[in-house]
Amino acid sequence: MQEFSTFVTHLECSYTGKLYPADQLHGLSEAGKPLLVRYDLEGVAKAVSKSDLQQRRPEFWRYRELLPVRKSENVIRLGELMTPILPAKMLQQELGCGEILIKDEGRLPTGSFKARGLALAVAMAKELGVTRMAMPTNGNAGAALAAYCSRAGIDTFVFCPEDTPKVNIEEIAFQGAKTFLANGYINDCGKIVGEGKEVMNWFDTSTLKEPYRIEGKKTMGLELAEQMHWTVPDVILYPTGGGTGLIGMWKAFDELEAIGWIGSKRPRMVAVQAEGCAPIVQAYDTGQRHAEPWQNAATIASGIRVPAAVGDFLILDAVRESNGFAVAVSDDAIKEAHKECAVKEGILLCPEGAATLAALKQELATGRINPNEQVMLFNCATGLKYPMESEHKTIDLSKPIDYDFIRES
Ligand SMILES: *Cc1c(COP(=O)(O)O)cnc(C)c1O
Repeated sequence: MQEFSTFVTHLECSYTGKLYPADQLHGLSEAGKPLLVRYDLEGVAKAVSKSDLQQRRPEFWRYRELLPVRKSENVIRLGELMTPILPAKMLQQELGCGEILIKDEGRLPTGSFKARGLALAVAMAKELGVTRMAMPTNGNAGAALAAYCSRAGIDTFVFCPEDTPKVNIEEIAFQGAKTFLANGYINDCGKIVGEGKEVMNWFDTSTLKEPYRIEGKKTMGLELAEQMHWTVPDVILYPTGGGTGLIGMWKAFDELEAIGWIGSKRPRMVAVQAEGCAPIVQAYDTGQRHAEPWQNAATIASGIRVPAAVGDFLILDAVRESNGFAVAVSDDAIKEAHKECAVKEGILLCPEGAATLAALKQELATGRINPNEQVMLFNCATGLKYPMESEHKTIDLSKPIDYDFIRES
C-alpha cells in the first residue's frame, strides 16, 4: 500500500483543553475526560484534495490524512466499505415529510458501525505496542474488538452484561476473545476492566476512554459528506449510547470546514435514546451539561442501553450547538418502526436504527422536525443479529397441500 503523510499534532482534553503529546499511549485525560486528536489541518488541506479521493479505494481509510495511524503496516483490514445511503421513499410518502435517507452501517465487517471505531483503536494499539486489550460491551463493540484484535494478533478480554443478545456473546467468543458474562450493567463491566488494569496488564478500550474510537466513528461524517457531494443533511437522527458517533461526526464536520471541503452549514444533531434508558434526554430537558446515571436501564435496543456516558457533555454540547435536541422513544414505538421499515422499504434495521425512525415519526408530530427538512437516520447494525418475532406458518407434508390455506395466509 502507498504511504501517506500523517498530520496528527497532539491530543487535547475535551474538557479542560490541556494538551497531550501524540505517539504515546493515552487513556482519559488527567481530568478524567475524553481526549480528542488534533491535526495540522492546513497541512491536510495542502496535501490532499477532494478529487484525490477518487483514486482511492471505497473504504474509510481513504480519509487517511484525517486519521491518526502513522504507518500503513498497522492498518488492519476486514473489507471495510463505504456504507450505502438508502432513500426511504415509501416512508417519506406516508409520513408526508422531507427526504428520508438511511445510512446503512450494518454492511460493515462484524455487522455494525463499531467496526469503524475499533479498526482505528486496534490499529493505534498495534502502533503503540499494546499486546492485550479489554472492554465492557453490550455486544457489537466486543464483536468488532474481537475480530480486529484476532487479525492483529492482540490478546482480548471482553465483559458483557448477562442479558447481552446471545448472538453477540457467541460471535465475540468465537472470534477469539476471552468472554465473560456478569450479572450487572455495562458500567459494572467497565469497573472490572478499569480495576483490572494493573493486575491484568491490559489496555482499557472502553467507549471514549481511549482517544481513537472517535476518530474511527468520525469517518461516518466524512463519508456521508462525500457521498452527498460535500453537503450535509438538514437533520441527523443518531441512536445514542456512549455517543461516540455523534461526537465523532460533529468533529468531522468541523475538520471538513477547516480544510475547505464543506461550508458552515451543520446538520441539526438529534440524540435518540430509549425511554427505558434516557440519561442524555433527561439532561437535555433539564438544561444540564452532565447526565445523572440512569437507574434500572431497560430497553430492547441493547446498543443504546448505556446508563452513564463519559462523553455526556460532548453529546449535549453538539446537540445544543447544532440546534438539535435529545429525544426518547418507547420500546413499542421501536418495534412498530422496525416492522414498518422492513415491510415498506425492505430494509431490516436493528432496533437502535428503528429507534431513529420512531423518533422521526414522533417529532414530525410534535413539530420539532419540520416536514421540509431532509433527514438522515442511522442504522448502526445489521438486523440479522437481533431476535425477530416468528410470523411464518407450517406445512405438514404427510397431508395434501392446502393451497387455499397458503393463499389466505
Ligand atoms: C454502540 C451502538 C450504538 C450506540 O453508538 P454510540 O456511538 O456509542 O452512541 C447504537 N446502535 C448500535 C447497534 C450499537 O452497537
